[in-house]
Amino acid sequence: MTMQAVYLTGHGGNEVVAIGERPLPGRQMGEVRVRLHAATLNRVDLYMRDSGAGITHTLPQVMGIDGAGVVEAVDAGQGLSLGQRVLLYPGVTCGHCEFCQRDQEVLCTTMKLLGEHRDGTFAQFISVPARNAVPMPEGWSFEEAAALGVNHLTAWRMLVTQARLQAGETVLVFGIGGGVSLAGLQLAKALGARVIVTSREPDKCERALALGADAAICSGTHDVVPEVMRLTDKRGVDVVFENVGAAAWDSALRSAVRGGRIVTCGATSGDQPGADLRRVFIRQLQIFGSTLGNLAELQDLVRFCAQHKVRPLIDQVFPIHEAHAALDRLASGQQFGKVALRISA
Ligand SMILES: [Zn+2]
Repeated sequence: MTMQAVYLTGHGGNEVVAIGERPLPGRQMGEVRVRLHAATLNRVDLYMRDSGAGITHTLPQVMGIDGAGVVEAVDAGQGLSLGQRVLLYPGVTCGHCEFCQRDQEVLCTTMKLLGEHRDGTFAQFISVPARNAVPMPEGWSFEEAAALGVNHLTAWRMLVTQARLQAGETVLVFGIGGGVSLAGLQLAKALGARVIVTSREPDKCERALALGADAAICSGTHDVVPEVMRLTDKRGVDVVFENVGAAAWDSALRSAVRGGRIVTCGATSGDQPGADLRRVFIRQLQIFGSTLGNLAELQDLVRFCAQHKVRPLIDQVFPIHEAHAALDRLASGQQFGKVALRISA
C-alpha cells in the first residue's frame, strides 16, 4: 500500500524534492492515523530542502511540519472518533524527561518534529501519538486549521507565555506578511494590544492596516526607530515581536521602552547581530527566545481563536502535485499569509 507524498531525497534545492508514492505509514498502539487534507508551508521546509544541516534525519523523508485532516484509525479511549476533524501538534515528545514531566514538552530533549526528524504532513496519511491530534475549530477549512499548529502556536507562546502581553500595551511586529508575524498581529489585536507593524513593501503595510494594524512603518522608505518614537510619544513599545534577525535587531533594541520585552523566534536575515549589551542592561530590557509551544498552549490557542474569531490568513493554495511551485512561492517572500498544500485524499 502506498500514498502520494512530497518527500526529500537529498538537500540542495527543488530537484531533491520528489512528488510520488511512499509506503503507507503503519500505526502503533496509542497512535492515531490521520488522513491529511491540507498542510501549510513553513520556512523550515525550505531549510530542510536546501540544507537540513544539524537536523538528525534519514532520507527519504516526507516533508511538512503542520497539517489537518480526519481521523482514520485510532484506539478506543483516546478521546478521538473516526472521521473527526483534527489538526496536528507538530512535536512528538518523550513523555519522561525533566521538561516533559513538568508539561514543558516544547523543551523536550528528544523532541521529534514532523517533517524535520520524522515523516511529515505533505502526504495523504500520517501516524502520530493520539495526543498530537487536536480537534479543529468548527467551520474552519483544513488549510486554516493546519496553519495554527506552527505559526499561530509560535506567536501565541511568544506573546502570551513569554512576553505576557497585556491589553492596552503596544507591540511592534517586524516584517509583516510572513505567517508568524501575521499571527502575531492577529493575536495581539485580539488580546487588546495596539499593534505597529513594519514591512519593506508598501502593499504589505496597506494590507496589514486593512487587517487591523494600528500603524504601519514602511521600512523601505522610513527608519523604523524614529517612526516608532513618533507613534509612541517618544516612549517606545512595550513588546517587540521579532523574527527577522540581524537586519532588524538593532531597531528592535532601540524601539523598546525601558523595561520592555523583546521576543524572538527567528533569524531569517542572519543570527549574529551586535548585542548592544549596554542598552540591554541600562534600559533593563528583557529578551526572550521562543519556538513553537506546548500542547496545552495549542489547546488554549484553539479555544482563543474560536472565541475571538481569529482565523489564519491563507495566501494561496496549491494542489500537492504543485509542491515545487508552493515552495517557490514561500521562497519568493511575496506571500501574505500562509502558502498551503491541498492534499486530495
Ligand atoms: Zn521529553
